[in-house]
Amino acid sequence: MTMISAQATIKADDIDGCLPLLLEHMEEHATVIRTGKGAVMVSPFGSVEIRRQPDDLFLEAKASSVEVLSMMRVFIAEHVFEFAGETASIVWSDVVKADQAPPHFQKLTVTSVFDVTPRMRRVQFSCERIAAFTGDAGYHVRLLLSPRRADPVWPAMDINGRLRWPTGDDALVSRVYTIRNVDIRSSLVEIDFVLHDKPGPAAIWAVQARAGDTVGVLGPSGGQVAPADHYIIAGDETALPAISRILADLPAHCRGVALIEVQDRAEMQQLSHPADFEVRWLLRDTAHPGTTTLLQDAVAALPKPSAPDAYFVWISCEFAACNAIRLYLRENWRTPKGSYLATSYWRRGKYSDGISAQEPHDEH
Ligand SMILES: Cc1cc2nc3c(=O)[nH]c(=O)nc-3n(C[C@H](O)[C@H](O)[C@H](O)COP(=O)(O)OP(=O)(O)OC[C@H]3O[C@@H](n4cnc5c(N)ncnc54)[C@H](O)[C@@H]3O)c2cc1C
Repeated sequence: MTMISAQATIKADDIDGCLPLLLEHMEEHATVIRTGKGAVMVSPFGSVEIRRQPDDLFLEAKASSVEVLSMMRVFIAEHVFEFAGETASIVWSDVVKADQAPPHFQKLTVTSVFDVTPRMRRVQFSCERIAAFTGDAGYHVRLLLSPRRADPVWPAMDINGRLRWPTGDDALVSRVYTIRNVDIRSSLVEIDFVLHDKPGPAAIWAVQARAGDTVGVLGPSGGQVAPADHYIIAGDETALPAISRILADLPAHCRGVALIEVQDRAEMQQLSHPADFEVRWLLRDTAHPGTTTLLQDAVAALPKPSAPDAYFVWISCEFAACNAIRLYLRENWRTPKGSYLATSYWRRGKYSDGISAQEPHDEH
């Protein structure tokens, strides 16, 4: 795979204080290999080498595409300022086009809208750069919704590589979604929106979406499974778009089970998957989303895999269920860190930006 890179020099008042904090924090996101003067950080997105020089820090980021490199640049820049303070500065070797959108941003325009099932709405978009969604590009995007129908204001880079977000009347709402389908020839992508009760801004946007509407997206990134022969996949309807892509992308020899929680039979979808893969639907029926233990119970009922490196587990669902399954994998199966990915896709009673929702969700 061809990698592209960007170098930077970081100056800060207290470099020796900031570097350990930065590396410690990066351990949450990447494998951090300490070197004499710094560290190399490796993640599924690429690598970053950082080292102390006499007067500053030198940094080199490597990634497989301009979009991923752009995402890494923003991520690094924001964390440098978090730990080094606002007096820090970053000089990148390539030109950072201040006041312009970052390379991992693009505008999508709605071309059609239809319901796949009673609670799942598919929105099809034309896009400016379909190439960003091809190859090893990840599955997910950060969807940016503007309060303005005409002339939305999108985020722009500053000279250090950070994102500047519009504020006040132009402030954006952002939510993470999965690109369900990519049609390279027609430059179209599709996103499936769960039409959940007590909808937030994204579900409301999907209900009202019409041809010609525009959204911004940052990405894509993340979501894929690590290579294995045997998979255990579990998720609710918010994860169904990602699960459908994972199953379709798996090599034909892979075996495993996909446990998918949906409301009722009307929400079940036809999925392409390897021949030796079982898809098991778990129906909530009258129960509300985020209130059952269907997924945890189904994982716990599976036979314990014979060897820790013989399988990969992918979990995405509501926060509480995700935590329960993660704990089960660690404590009961002793699944090693690199053999599972457990991601909370939404949290009952909370807006996805983490602020407590102002509605009576506890009645669920
Ligand atoms: C990596 C990733 C990929 C995702 N992919 C998809 C996708 O492809 N399709 C998709 O529909 N969602 C997807 N999600 C989940 C989606 O981002 C959340 O459901 C998000 O909260 C929806 O935003 P909202 O503005 O509608 O609701 P918010 O403003 O975030 O929340 C409003 C209220 O609705 C509740 N709520 C949120 N989601 C649900 C739900 N699914 N069921 C019931 N109540 C809910 C919240 O608890 C809150 O009380 C993904 C999330 C992640 C992290």
